[in-house]
Amino acid sequence: MQGGGWWRWGLNIHKRLRQSTIQDLVLQPVWDYLHQNHHDLLRSPLFPVVLSVTTYFFLVALYTVLDLLAPTWPFINRYRLHPDRPVTWPNIWTTLGVTIYNTLAVRPPTPLPREAPTLWSFFLGILGCMVVFDFQYYLWHLLHHRVPWLYRTFHAVHHQYNQPFSLVTQYLSGWELFSVGFWATVDPILLQCHCLTTWGFMVFNVYVSTEDHCGYDFPWAMHNLVPFGLWGGTPKHDAHHQRPGTNFAPFFSHWDWLGGTHTVSSH
Ligand SMILES: [Zn+2]
Ligand SMILES: [Zn+2]
Repeated sequence: MQGGGWWRWGLNIHKRLRQSTIQDLVLQPVWDYLHQNHHDLLRSPLFPVVLSVTTYFFLVALYTVLDLLAPTWPFINRYRLHPDRPVTWPNIWTTLGVTIYNTLAVRPPTPLPREAPTLWSFFLGILGCMVVFDFQYYLWHLLHHRVPWLYRTFHAVHHQYNQPFSLVTQYLSGWELFSVGFWATVDPILLQCHCLTTWGFMVFNVYVSTEDHCGYDFPWAMHNLVPFGLWGGTPKHDAHHQRPGTNFAPFFSHWDWLGGTHTVSSH
């Protein structure tokens, strides 16, 4: 299929999904409940921020407890990518300080439609946003490694730790956090996602970013669930912190395969 063919094909699918008369029965009851009981909360411009921040701190708390237990609990430590390098309290305080400082931001209000998205458009929307976000961050990341001034000024802070732990996820310069936050806000608008899908994408994005840095190779991690090595995940992003010239994509592997920047982890 030619470029134009793909575009028309995608547009047709999108149109069919939007016109679908069979309303999905899974998300509508959830959406009705939220609409009736939490209307004001959901409309608040602060809701997406609170949702992302709460998800992030919930996950970070979980991983940090594991980090603190790992040195004395071999059962946990054996899943760590660097079992001989424990996460220290100074590590935690430094990354936590920058994260809290970066968290303060304001956004415009959200319109709430009557209908929930179909389950299909919910998951397809999240996947679409992940694919677009992955590409944007790949380019940003490559550029900020290849141009020394950009690296020194904006990205080096994130590479201060070459054995990442969960709080390193958002241990970023203001410019990097702004870029990431900007795409996470704009991509669902570009793909015309329902706000429930947008929030799903935001939570999932925070989940996989935190997983990328958590320092554990659990059996339920995304790279162990997605076949054919399509998902880079924890080992590949860990390898990026070890050898910063490789694995620039945050989630999928295809851009690093195509760009010749792919490497496998060596832990
Ligand atoms: Zn990282
Ligand atoms: Zn990097």
